[in-house]
Amino acid sequence: MDHAARSSSAPLESLTVVRISTVHPNSAMNRALLLCAAIATALSSARAQSTCADAFRDSLSANTLRVFERVASVAPVWDDYTFSRHPLLLLADSAYRGHAETPVCAAVWRAGRPLERIELSARPPFSTPLYGMIDSDSIGPRAIDGAADIAVVARKAPSAVAAALRSRGIARVVVFNVPMNLAALGRLGEMLIAAKADPARIQADLAVHESFHLHSQFPTWLDQTRTYAWPAWDLQPDRTELRQRCYAGSPELSEALKAEIQTLVAAYDAASGDSSKRDAAAGLRHAQQFIESRAARRKLQDTMTVAQGRRRISCAQAEDLMELEEGATQWIGHATSLAAGLTNSATLRGPYAGTQAEAFYQTGPLQLWVLDGLLGRDALRRITTAIAPSTAPETGSVHAQFTNHVRRLAQRRGRSDAAATRRSDPWREHH
Ligand SMILES: [Zn+2]
Repeated sequence: MDHAARSSSAPLESLTVVRISTVHPNSAMNRALLLCAAIATALSSARAQSTCADAFRDSLSANTLRVFERVASVAPVWDDYTFSRHPLLLLADSAYRGHAETPVCAAVWRAGRPLERIELSARPPFSTPLYGMIDSDSIGPRAIDGAADIAVVARKAPSAVAAALRSRGIARVVVFNVPMNLAALGRLGEMLIAAKADPARIQADLAVHESFHLHSQFPTWLDQTRTYAWPAWDLQPDRTELRQRCYAGSPELSEALKAEIQTLVAAYDAASGDSSKRDAAAGLRHAQQFIESRAARRKLQDTMTVAQGRRRISCAQAEDLMELEEGATQWIGHATSLAAGLTNSATLRGPYAGTQAEAFYQTGPLQLWVLDGLLGRDALRRITTAIAPSTAPETGSVHAQFTNHVRRLAQRRGRSDAAATRRSDPWREHH
C-alpha cells in the first residue's frame, strides 16, 4: 500500500512545481524554483523508475525466490527433465507500476542468477487463478488435432509481452504473481488459507509441475522444437467423461475405485511413507493386491468408452493417459518438493488418500512412489527414461510399468524364498 501511495503522489508533486516556474521565468525566485523543479523532476523520474526496482524486495517475495532456488537445486527425478534450465516470469503486485505506458513490473527468474527486472506493457493472461503460461513458438504442421484449443494457444500473451521476452531469449515461460496473494483467489484461496498452505511452497511445486507441461508435453502436442522426449501416444481424452463414466459410472465402480485406492495407499505407507514404518514385503503384497483390484474394476467398466478427439477409447486407455499426463507430472512436482525439504510424505499422503474427482492425481503419483520405495530412485529414474520415448501405452503407461516391475519383483522374491527354504530344508542337506 505504501508503494501505491508513493507512485501516485510523486508525479503530482513535480507537475505543480513545473507549472509555477513557467509562469514567472525571470525572477531570482523563479530561477530557484526552476532549480527546484529540475531537482523534483529528476527525483520523481528516479522514483517512478524505482517502483519496479522496489518490486520483489519484500520478505514474502524474497522467501518465494529462495524456495524456487531450493527446487532448482534438486537433481532430475524424471528422465532428464531439469527444472533449473527453465526461466519463470514473475509479475509484481499491481501496486508496483512503472510509467503509464509500462504498467506491469515483472522479472525474469533464472536459477542461480539475480532477477532481471523488466517493465511489461500489459499483464499476460493467466490459465488459472494460480499461474499463466506463455508459448510464443509457432505451432508445427504435425500438431495434434485441437491444438488451437489449448489455453496457451487460445489465449496468447499480448504480442508486445511476447516480443519483450523473445528479446531476452525466452519463448516459453510459466508466469506467477509474486508474492501470491491467497486472499485474492476466492474460494480456492480460502481453502488454502484454512489449510495453512505456504504460498511460496505452492508456487515452487507449481513451477516444477507447469514447467514440465510446458517444456516436455506441449512441444510434442504442438510440434515445436523440443528439449525432452515425451510419448506421442499421449493425447488427452475427455476428462469429464473419464470422471463421470470410468470412475463413477455406477455405484459399484465408485466403490471399487475407493477400495483400489485404499490398497494403493497401504502399499505407499509400507513402501514409501515414514521410514520408521517401512516394510518392503508388505509394500509388495499391497502392490500385488492393487494390481488385482484394478483388473477387477476394469471388468466393471466393460464396454464404456471415452472421447479422445474424434475417436473413442477404452476407460483403461483413458486412465493410463491421464495417469501419465497429470499423474506423473504431479509426482515430479511432489518428488522435487520432497527432495528440496519443502514437504514430507505425511503431508503428501493427505490428498493421495482423500477423494478427488480426478483420481489419476492420486493413482499416478502413488504408483510411482511405490515403485520408488520398492526399487530405489535409480531404478525409478530408469523407468521414467523408458516411459519418456515410449511408443505405446502397453509399454509406456505408469500402470504398465508398475505391473511389470511389481510382478518381476514378486517372482524374484518367490525364487529367493524358495532358495532359502531349500537351504534350510534338513532333508536336502542330508540326501
Ligand atoms: Zn498439470
